[in-house]
Amino acid sequence: MSEKHYDVVVIGAGLFGMATAYHIKKENKKLEILVVDKLAQAGAGNTAQSAAMYRDTFSSEVNLHLSSSTRDFYKHVQHELGIDLSLRDVTYLWLMDKEQFEGNKIAIETMLKNKVRIEILEKEDIKRKIPELVTDFDGNEDAQMLNLRNIDFGLLGYDCGELDADKITRDFYENEFNKLGGETLYNTAITKLILEPIGEKLGIPGEPVGWQKKRIGGALTNTGSTIKSDNFVIATGAWANELLLPLGVDSHTMPVKKYIFRIQHPQLANFLHNEHFNGEKTTPFLIFPIHGIHLKPVKYNNSIWIGGGSLIGKPYIITNPEEITKEDNPLNDTQANDRDYEFDRYLILAEYLPVLKDLQLTNSWAGFYAINTIDKNPVVFKAKGIKGLQVVTSGSGSGIMKADAIGRIAAALYNNQEHAELYGGIKFKVSRLGLENRNVDKEDFVI
Ligand SMILES: Cc1cc2nc3c(=O)[nH]c(=O)nc-3n(C[C@H](O)[C@H](O)[C@H](O)COP(=O)(O)OP(=O)(O)OC[C@H]3O[C@@H](n4cnc5c(N)ncnc54)[C@H](O)[C@@H]3O)c2cc1C
Repeated sequence: MSEKHYDVVVIGAGLFGMATAYHIKKENKKLEILVVDKLAQAGAGNTAQSAAMYRDTFSSEVNLHLSSSTRDFYKHVQHELGIDLSLRDVTYLWLMDKEQFEGNKIAIETMLKNKVRIEILEKEDIKRKIPELVTDFDGNEDAQMLNLRNIDFGLLGYDCGELDADKITRDFYENEFNKLGGETLYNTAITKLILEPIGEKLGIPGEPVGWQKKRIGGALTNTGSTIKSDNFVIATGAWANELLLPLGVDSHTMPVKKYIFRIQHPQLANFLHNEHFNGEKTTPFLIFPIHGIHLKPVKYNNSIWIGGGSLIGKPYIITNPEEITKEDNPLNDTQANDRDYEFDRYLILAEYLPVLKDLQLTNSWAGFYAINTIDKNPVVFKAKGIKGLQVVTSGSGSGIMKADAIGRIAAALYNNQEHAELYGGIKFKVSRLGLENRNVDKEDFVI
């Protein structure tokens, strides 16, 4: 590693880090920017583990602005710039019982007021369009034991769908960042950020001491080198605490392990082919009425991906910052627990969708949501009292669908602008996603 001094170093080449690096570079072409990641390529962390779905079926202004501007930008990349992201509006269908529907009425009205393209389906319509679904459990003892809810209504979101997370991270953001002259460095873990006094070092023990003004002087790597810069952007997602907590910086992010279970079987072909919802002629992404259990249809190979499930009782994972490079760091564990499928999701899903009965899992994997514990939305802030330290993290399970907006907001913060201009022209106040003057309105429509 050369002794080069960068203007900006982004740590973490996930979708948040790459979108941030691209937007900072695009706005400041002369800056020398390095993106560094401990893995072998961009987007290989939790970005790669995700289901990569997007939606605009949100009731809060913040979620709607972040997600719809990001989706529109991805569509622009695919349709106007001609970069294939495998983006498809497969639609989302939220299934609910009467009580849930009543509880969601205000959220639904807000979506309609905000021109989110949705349609409410009634039970008979759902039954006709997805005959494989069981909608009523009255008199079914198993279903009662499982606390299943009937399906009385569906909310169909039209401008919602899927894309390829690798393609948006690498084929677009990384590629464009490189074309602008940005540099990347892989297989290199940052083990520590070095806190230094601003100005002359005095040689006192424990420097910088309390009264000295502070900055990040460099980043130590696992190869023993130091990367020098005046500005570090921490975009390390679920691993954020490992670099931030030793500096006394709390990003209000906690990692939670999430599983995806995949079943591939010819028996699913009829269920996956559906002419009622979208141009792809497939069943929509389904969200069941309990615990946010959801099913992603993958029609071309007769498979489904199952995610969600109750988070109650699921631990936040705390790791030791001293052990960033340890191979058995629990945050690197991408193994799912298949028993969770067997004793939890399967019992529920097989009641709603008998077509799944006795089908074995084909494979499964796990990743970590970097959950923002305040309101489950990303955080973008400059650390108080440490010059040159910016944080962009907490995708909270919806980072793919918000990443372009987050990259623009992070670039605006870097440039000390009060507002970021999101794709499509919306002006977004940068401090809304900060910690001190955070202003994220309540979201009623959560999975
Ligand atoms: C199972 C699952 C399903 C999901 N489904 C969806 C979905 O359908 N839709 C959606 O919008 N979002 C979804 N998400 C969330 C989404 O994947 C993330 O919010 C998004 O990818 C943003 O990630 P990131 O860049 O913050 O983190 P990451 O992609 O994890 O990037 C962080 C990077 O930092 C690197 N790093 C960490 N520590 C260090 C270090 N010390 N030194 C150097 N590099 C370091 C890591 O190697 C990693 O590449 C899902 C997440 C999971 C886990």
